[in-house]
Amino acid sequence: MKTIGLIGGMSWESSIEYYRMINEQVRSQLGGLHSAKCLMYSVNFEEIERYQAEGNWKKAGETLGEVALSLEKGGADFIVICSNTMHMVLDFIEERIRIPVLHIADATANQIHEQGIRTVGLLGTKYTMEQNFYKQRLETNGIQVLIPNEQDRGIVNKVIYEELCLGNIQSNSKAYYKEVIERLIQDGAEGIILGCTEIGLLIKPEDSNVPLFDTTSIHASEAVHKSLGADS
Ligand code: GLU
Repeated sequence: MKTIGLIGGMSWESSIEYYRMINEQVRSQLGGLHSAKCLMYSVNFEEIERYQAEGNWKKAGETLGEVALSLEKGGADFIVICSNTMHMVLDFIEERIRIPVLHIADATANQIHEQGIRTVGLLGTKYTMEQNFYKQRLETNGIQVLIPNEQDRGIVNKVIYEELCLGNIQSNSKAYYKEVIERLIQDGAEGIILGCTEIGLLIKPEDSNVPLFDTTSIHASEAVHKSLGADS
């Protein structure tokens, strides 16, 4: 079994989901008292979010690069960044370490292909929805990406930082997200990526008429797959 190195704390509300899902899947696959070999370095999200808001991605990247190096030194065999948004600084992380990073968008793209879907709607932070680092990665994988309109993006983003990252689940926000999902379906989305690791706390499969791709659950499964892979 390979050791998973998790960069968590962004926010810890989703990191605990990663920890739970990874351990549940290892137990269900191996049985008995089996549990995942993993390390989690949980950052102070206040600090990281400040760098994001300032547009200081270099500082954010250097910080997460150091975190990844600590995980590598601690014995991690590969890295899982428990945030879609922070894949923005993938290059900073990869240049500090020798072990691989398991990219959340690649894992998600594989699942989308498996369901034979080509056009998806993307929900996430404003960085994930508006900047190229994430959409391009999906497009390179042959997937067409639709994003919500400007007003919807603003509200989707605000709910993430002001509610979900604080563990605050509101029924009116859930209703709004469902409307945004419906608009994306009207625009042609055949599936919806929950491209922020906290959205699965708010939106469940029954909230959509098309398949949902919950990046937290997909990324956690992929991490287990890699950890228990043939060469481990
Ligand atoms: N967990 C988030 C994501 O998946 C948002 C928090 C962050 O900015 O890292 O994008």
